[in-house]
Amino acid sequence: MRVAVVAVGQAGGKITDALLRYERDSREDFVVDAVAVNTARADLFGLTDVPAENRVLIGADRVKGHGAGADNELGAELAADDIGEVREAVDAVPTSDVDAFLVVAALGGGTGSGGAPVICRELRRIYEEPVFALGVLPARDEGGIYTLNAARSLKTVTDHADATLLYDNAAHRETGESLAGGYDRVNEAIARRLGVLLSAGEATDPTPEKVVDASEIINTLGRSGGIASLGYASAPLNRKRGMFGGFKAVSEDALTTTTRVTATVRRAALGNLTLPCELRDVERALVVVSGPPETLSRKGVEEGRAWLEEATGTPEVRGGDYPLRDTDHLAALVLLGGVTQTPRLRELRAAAVEAQRNVAAIAERADLSAGIWDAEGLDPLF
Ligand code: GDP
Repeated sequence: MRVAVVAVGQAGGKITDALLRYERDSREDFVVDAVAVNTARADLFGLTDVPAENRVLIGADRVKGHGAGADNELGAELAADDIGEVREAVDAVPTSDVDAFLVVAALGGGTGSGGAPVICRELRRIYEEPVFALGVLPARDEGGIYTLNAARSLKTVTDHADATLLYDNAAHRETGESLAGGYDRVNEAIARRLGVLLSAGEATDPTPEKVVDASEIINTLGRSGGIASLGYASAPLNRKRGMFGGFKAVSEDALTTTTRVTATVRRAALGNLTLPCELRDVERALVVVSGPPETLSRKGVEEGRAWLEEATGTPEVRGGDYPLRDTDHLAALVLLGGVTQTPRLRELRAAAVEAQRNVAAIAERADLSAGIWDAEGLDPLF
């Protein structure tokens, strides 16, 4: 599936850089073009792979290139005020070649959180192609304002994107790793998952047994404002290298091949989701198995798909393969669409409501304390 990517804010830009690197390193071609939008000049300058001519600074007349400072209402206003500049940059993308738009942003900050919903709304107004969002949720300990921003942004972006794929920084935090130090790796992991999904539909050599085409990805994500999660797992094959450096074919019995495929599909769906959720709470799914052609047992892919159908309880489970010659891993990718509810989203909503209450109480106290100067008999200097 070929996409035009619009990165919004700092995290959006860095994840898009990682996606472009994945595309280049794997010699795939699924990004038609990428545009980065930011209110912070330094963040735009720090990008490595989004072409310099595709970087759009917005809100410079108001924030002077210094960013929106985790104020997502300001982020939304600046994006709306300068939407013409964003539109101009996207207009330069050859959209006849595009299957979908992908708007990438963290939902907890200012620019991406406020700007992504505005940009989704505009793209949807202008183009017929679906507009999908990739949103990053903040880790739990980032504080109330990030949680509140993320919840408000998510509520808005799901109204304006065809579907929103979520990546939860909190899920990564549970591995015990410091997030700041680990962002590069997190972004690489996001890029790998997206990269496998998007390039699967473009595979031509070796030819897949069952191609996953763009419409299957689009139908699994859905076009009615749903939420999606992406699972990924891989298994080493320990292939030997031949005389000329390439990998030798794996020779093993059919049962081993089939079992490896189904076990990897289960791991991808059960323990490695970008947004943890119960399989029972999804409406649609898509499974893609990638690896050397001889390890992609048709029976294994079919069994993996059938297992997912049973685990989700939905008949709408699509499946396909994506053969790769030069790899020593078998990988399974599971896209879950129409995620109806998850404990994490309920928790985020409750924490955001609480944060909103606190913000209102503090504003009220501030009003009261401003009132102490209203006392009669005290004149201001000027
Ligand atoms: P913005 O530029 O105002 O949109 O703000 P950011 O993009 O920095 O958004 C802040 C949120 O993004 C916080 O929840 C951070 O934890 C998260 N974040 C910042 N950088 C990255 C990154 O490179 N990768 C990921 N996954 N999250 C990030």
